[in-house]
Amino acid sequence: MLSAEESGAGDEGGEGAVTRPDPLVTEDSEVFWAAADESRLVAQRCSSCGRLRHPPRPMCPHCHSLDFTAQELSGRGTLYSYAILHHPQNPLFEYPVLAALVDLDEGVRLMSNLRGVDPPDIRIGMKVQVGYEATSGGHQVPVFDPVRP
Ligand code: ZN
Repeated sequence: MLSAEESGAGDEGGEGAVTRPDPLVTEDSEVFWAAADESRLVAQRCSSCGRLRHPPRPMCPHCHSLDFTAQELSGRGTLYSYAILHHPQNPLFEYPVLAALVDLDEGVRLMSNLRGVDPPDIRIGMKVQVGYEATSGGHQVPVFDPVRP
């Protein structure tokens, strides 16, 4: 019996094929990923103290409240740090993978990917803007593009 990869990959391979895996959705991150499917970026805002937090989690780290709302974010931010990943390679990604930590203008930090820039041109502190990439299961994940002056 063929696995799902063996039976379907032959026809879909090649340039431009969507291979990026679906995000791992948890009870806490469900709101974040549902928004990403609609090309929206959200973070949790504590209903008690009003602070934003990310990544999604059940309890506010500042006041321990369990109540929150989903706040829509601008998607604009600054590159805080990055890593260029070469190994170990997962066949579902194109290498090198640019892993990025982005400080969003609203004050939360997001782990994501950077695209649309050659590694030698990456600069800490560069302005970035969210975009979305499709996954093989028909979802979307937020990634970041440099903002050209
Ligand atoms: Zn709070």
